[in-house]
This record gives sequence, structure tokens and C-alpha cells, in this order.
Amino acid sequence: MRIDVNVDGRYDILRSVSASVGGKKEYVGTSKGVCRFCEVDSPTFKQCSHTFPEALGNKWVFSRDECDCCNALFSKYETALVDCLKPLLTMGGVKGKKRIPQSGRTLGSTYIKHSNSGEPRRQSWHCKGESLSDYGPRLDQKTGLMDMKLPIPEIPFVPRYAYKALAKMGYALLPDDELKNYAMLKDWLQNPKDQLNFPILDVQLSFASIGNAPSTVSGVLLRRTDSADEIPHILFIFSAGSICLQIDLMSDHLEDHISLMPAGFVKLRWTSVIEGDQEGKAIKLTYSEPVTLNWNSSDPSPQPIESMNLKFNPITRVASFHPNLRG
Ligand SMILES: [Zn+2]
Repeated sequence: MRIDVNVDGRYDILRSVSASVGGKKEYVGTSKGVCRFCEVDSPTFKQCSHTFPEALGNKWVFSRDECDCCNALFSKYETALVDCLKPLLTMGGVKGKKRIPQSGRTLGSTYIKHSNSGEPRRQSWHCKGESLSDYGPRLDQKTGLMDMKLPIPEIPFVPRYAYKALAKMGYALLPDDELKNYAMLKDWLQNPKDQLNFPILDVQLSFASIGNAPSTVSGVLLRRTDSADEIPHILFIFSAGSICLQIDLMSDHLEDHISLMPAGFVKLRWTSVIEGDQEGKAIKLTYSEPVTLNWNSSDPSPQPIESMNLKFNPITRVASFHPNLRG
């Protein structure tokens, strides 16, 4: 995978792990018998620990150094992340466990269902219910595009757990010489009921080609090139098909010289190129300008997407989805 990111030389790629349909299985971490997360020597490693959540489409990347206890704990965090992204999984065609497309329910009796069948690869939409006509489609006279709005229900998720799912993935990819800088993060991941007062746990969320996204997952760590620069030491960027999430990995002390970072201070426009799909063609995913979410709450909250607008060009037959955030 190739990554284009405009960071003016302030960050270098520290580590990049990605996989897509047709790729080989990949393993991260060393199997020395010590768990990277709880540091227990010789725990059990019976489970096949997915480095990135299986329900977000990861069938290829596994951790050798995540023990069964930690795997069970982290699945709680991953469930929160998946609940939050469920409506987008439907839109993006990401397959979850058992290769069943995820389906998200919209309001009332109306729902949308995604299917991905037929040859050549074809995606179609099924709408059921009576109230759908309330939401379009309408013809935009200015642009000539058909526009249809699909409401998304307030599926509850625990934002702090979802944030921890991201932090866990980032920690899993850290090289050994960086682990000493992230001891507090490691301990925080071990405690599902922490009471730490984080006013802000920033997540940057962006989208690419929703509606026809390829099955791909990637995790990338970026490290700042100058330790005196007033930006986070390491950023973690996770993408699954059409969805991209970015966080600051929060080191123990390497950000102490930064006085105040406003919400959404570090936002990257992300592009990844996957070299060769099944037909050998490269796929370019260009993600939109990120929106900033605060995932500090330990209480169940509605997932952040209020509705999706489907814009369809009847002449070129090109369709795209545009998420509308709550609030
Ligand atoms: Zn463990």
C-alpha cells in the first residue's frame, strides 16, 4: 500500500500494516510468550487475535502477542467501535464476521439493506417501508443530481470504549523501542472502568467512496520528525474500506511541552493506494476532510451519523454518499 499524506515533512511513517482481498495473512508482534498488553509471562494464546476488528472486515492481520484475557477484554471495546460504524458498514459494503454484509436500520419501518452479489461485482440497495418517500429522491435543479436522504437511527455505543479500540490497535503496532513511552496508555487499556478525567478524546472521522468501497483494512503510525515540534509524538490512522479514523496515541510525557492543543488541531487529509485488487488494478481511496468527534464519554451515546445523503447522477450513473453528523 502506498500512502499520500500532506504533513509538510513534520511526520514520517513509522509503521504501516495493510491487507485487502486476495492478500496473504500478516502477523504483528513476536511470539515470545509474553503478552504485549498485560505483560503476563506465558499466558494462554489460544485465540486468534485480530489486530484490527474482524467485524470491520479484517480477515488478514493478526497479533501474536495478545493473550486470550486481553483479547476478551478488547472485544468489549471493539463492539463499541463496530456499533458506532454500523450504518457506514452498510453503506460501504464492508463484510463482517461470517462474510454477511452488515445492515443498519433506519428510522421507523424503513430500512436499507446492502447486498453485494452478482457478476461482475455489483452492489444494490433494497428499501422497504412506506416513509421512504418522505426523504426523496428529489432532483436538484442546479446540479442535475438526484438527492435522497436516508435517516440513521441513534444506535447507542460507548464512545470511550470505541476510542480504546483505536488506541489498542495503535499500541499493537508500536515498535518495541516506543513501548516505554506508552506505559500509561497500556494501563488505561487494561481498565474498562477507568475514571480518568479526559475532557477531550479527539477522533478524526472521514469517508471515501462510500457505496462501493473495496474490502481493505490498514493501520498506520506516523511519528513526528522533530521531537520539539508542538504536535503529538505519534498519530494512529486506521482505515476500513470507506471509513478512516485518526487519533493521537497519547504518550506518557512526550507531549508535555505542548501547552494546549485545541480540538481537531491535527487533521490529515488521507489517501491510500492499494496496489492491485483481484483484477490487478490499483485502487485509490481519497478520504474527505475529517470531522472531529469527542469520544471521552463512558456513557452510551447515539452514534454520530444522523443521516446519509445519496447523490446520484442520472447521466453518468455515478453515485456518492455524504454523511450528516448529529448536532
Ligand atoms: Zn494479555
